[in-house]
Amino acid sequence: MKISRIDLADAASPERLVIDIFKHEPDLAIPVPIEELCLRLDILEIVPLTTAGYEGGLLTTADKFNGTILYNEASPRQRRRFTIAHELGHFLMPSHLPSAEGRFLCRLKDMMELKGGEADRRLRMEVEANRFASQLLMPPPRFRVDVAIGKDPDIRQLSSIATKYDVSKEAAGRAYVRFREEPVALVVTQNGKILRDYRDPLKFPNLTAPRGTLVSDHSLLRRRKHELGAASDIDETDAGVWTHVERGRKPAPLYEQVLLQRDGFALIMLSRDAEADRDDEEDEEAELTAAQRLRRRLSSDR
Ligand SMILES: [Zn+2]
Repeated sequence: MKISRIDLADAASPERLVIDIFKHEPDLAIPVPIEELCLRLDILEIVPLTTAGYEGGLLTTADKFNGTILYNEASPRQRRRFTIAHELGHFLMPSHLPSAEGRFLCRLKDMMELKGGEADRRLRMEVEANRFASQLLMPPPRFRVDVAIGKDPDIRQLSSIATKYDVSKEAAGRAYVRFREEPVALVVTQNGKILRDYRDPLKFPNLTAPRGTLVSDHSLLRRRKHELGAASDIDETDAGVWTHVERGRKPAPLYEQVLLQRDGFALIMLSRDAEADRDDEEDEEAELTAAQRLRRRLSSDR
């Protein structure tokens, strides 16, 4: 590896940082050798955290001459890799400044923040560090190609992508729902309750069940018995189980697939046909006013 921090001197956004890293290291291996990369970029050492309650940290000075990255030793390797990439993001982003004590301390919750922060500087830094980590570990030009393989969205494909990039299924899933052509949502549950869900809001409608509530009895998760670690078949369900369906309107088919994990966790992948969805959108588009169309275009350019 030949890259050094001088090569990134012009980059001020997560996207630009990642582009510049790959410009200087076009042959960077997958999975990205994140620790080696950190050491090339003035991180002196990567060591376990000793403060309880945090997932990661960065010790540095206001001038960010160099830094030390901290990670939670108890976390699985894939999550540690994301944490280290996230802390590298704080280190490289010129607008991210450490606390008066010369550090960043990040909780697991911070590692999942994907939006917001316009009015909250700390939240904005977390969102940006996550965008950096996600794109660095799953570089979009390569990730996009892997995501497009296969006829239908499938949890088995998501699992093999997560293995290839050495990231958690949840981190891979957040990127998967953005890059897969069909509308896809990924729901993380524990003991039958919805913890988190990921979807591209422009492609997949809102889920009707809020976080913290039980998954519907009619969902595949609860309709059938599932085997630990084995993805279920893809099953068609009534779209009304998960999304709002207007009365009198025939909803596009909705597919469900379940992967039961340890400790009561389960992933549920929801998907719709790309075609069916496009018809839906055309209907909707026809009903929009010019101002709504403009707003929609602007928000999709984000
Ligand atoms: Zn952070």
